[in-house]
Amino acid sequence: AGMSSDYLQVRGLSVSFDGFKAVTDVDLTLLQGDLRFLIGPNGAGKTTIIDAITGLVPATGSIQKSGVELVGKKVHRIARLGVGRTFQTASVFEQLTVLQNLDIAAGAGRSPMTLLRRRSGILPEIEEALETIGLQGLRDKPAGVLAHGQKQWLEIGMLLVQNASVLLLDEPVAGMSHEEREETGNLLRRIGGERTVVVVEHDMDFMRAFATSVTVLARGKVIAEGSVAEVQANPQVQEVYLGT
Ligand code: ADP
Repeated sequence: AGMSSDYLQVRGLSVSFDGFKAVTDVDLTLLQGDLRFLIGPNGAGKTTIIDAITGLVPATGSIQKSGVELVGKKVHRIARLGVGRTFQTASVFEQLTVLQNLDIAAGAGRSPMTLLRRRSGILPEIEEALETIGLQGLRDKPAGVLAHGQKQWLEIGMLLVQNASVLLLDEPVAGMSHEEREETGNLLRRIGGERTVVVVEHDMDFMRAFATSVTVLARGKVIAEGSVAEVQANPQVQEVYLGT
């Protein structure tokens, strides 16, 4: 693999909380177009890995995006380098419209020139994001009236207008209906292409339907990695999931 522009390479990543090792020596290699699922029992360290990549918790080891080291950089710097995340509970501005939410996201960290350009109408990238997340018809509605699934899609749209090329999604389909899950999977496929999407998820049916690769964690360590079929056939993975 060469220096693909949206390439994330994690080497020897460890995170400790007061001496407790939540993540130990994790390696991950993510390529453009990957729709990688991170799975594992509660407490395995999945969210902590996402927190470390986005700079929310201090980590040791190396996390490189397109060759740029992220460990030690501040949250906003990492975001500006194109690493975006969602949280388990969608964090949109409920009183503002869908469009205003996207507008604010697009403005965050932008140059004054972009902000000026923004005044003269809707940015093309916002128009494009609206279409990608399928919320054109709801653009002028306050985000607070959106269905649960639609709020998650809006959050993903906010990452798109920030030009995130690595998207880290924490349980994006939790609480969604079957139809919303399907829609979300299709959305992730649509945005995948030239980006890298990492999904922390408990929903195994969703994983089977949409993952291009899977990393299985247990007690802070990677215990298996590969295709869905490969990890499902792995005895260590079966052991962890049977709770023996
Ligand atoms: P997962 O996302 O796989 O369920 P987490 O990454 O949330 O697991 O947690 C991994 C381990 O680290 C758990 O034992 C959890 O209790 C611990 N942990 C996570 N965040 C903190 C924190 N801020 N302080 C102390 N311990 C934490």
